[in-house]
Amino acid sequence: MLIQERLREVYERVRRAAQACDRSPAEISVLAVSKTFPPQAVTDAMQCGQRAFGENYAREGIDKMQAVAGLLAIPHASAANRGGVAVSPEDWKRLHGPPEWHFIGPIQSNKTRAIAEHFDWVHSVDRWQIAQRLSEQRPPDLVALQVCIQVNISGEQTKSGVDPPAVGDLARRILELPRVQLRGLMAIPEPSSDPQQQRLRFRALRELKDALAGAGVALDTLSMGMSDDLEAAVAEGATIVRIGRAIFGERPAKQPRS
Ligand SMILES: *Cc1c(COP(=O)(O)O)cnc(C)c1O
Repeated sequence: MLIQERLREVYERVRRAAQACDRSPAEISVLAVSKTFPPQAVTDAMQCGQRAFGENYAREGIDKMQAVAGLLAIPHASAANRGGVAVSPEDWKRLHGPPEWHFIGPIQSNKTRAIAEHFDWVHSVDRWQIAQRLSEQRPPDLVALQVCIQVNISGEQTKSGVDPPAVGDLARRILELPRVQLRGLMAIPEPSSDPQQQRLRFRALRELKDALAGAGVALDTLSMGMSDDLEAAVAEGATIVRIGRAIFGERPAKQPRS
């Protein structure tokens, strides 16, 4: 199936899920998770209007950004033009506003500078030291880095993320940082095929956001839901769903390292 058809299907799933719980689909944005996929997959998705892309590894993400910028500079590389449809310079410009890049993977402290210099968003801030470095290393000519705190919602030892009781303190400290803007919370719950179970985990993240709001920390973003559970996430208040396989297809089993 073409990326175009898959994307349309994902947006349709979001629309139906929003409708089912009386939310406006406009409140929910789709982050296309392009990790492991080539730059051409990104420009093909951009051709269909997709703007926001998620990457898990700093090196892979930055290499891809540069390759995408290169492809966008040559109109004949676009999917439409490869298919024989000539795109006018005006359409080209409209179709190819700059993409927005979100870092969603585990963050090692020696990667914070590269991340702060190249990405627009970071969803996976899980400790004070990382937040502090991202703020210090964010170049002054760029807008503040938009960040979410990753929360360990299922209480697993192996998953990264902040334990829920510690989120409030970390959030207050991050709000003091000058070069990052705290937007919300992110979670990657343990996979479950049971929709009720999926919803319980997402609900816990929403309730944590509501509790923070009650304590004076108002956030606007809940980054939760992936290809297999986006409906449950939307039902529990997701504002960004992070979708990989449902847009780009299955990933190769082994993933490249950063
Ligand atoms: C890979 C990944 C996704 C996308 O997962 P799919 O199941 O392919 O939709 C979302 N979020 C994070 C943090 C990921 O690493």
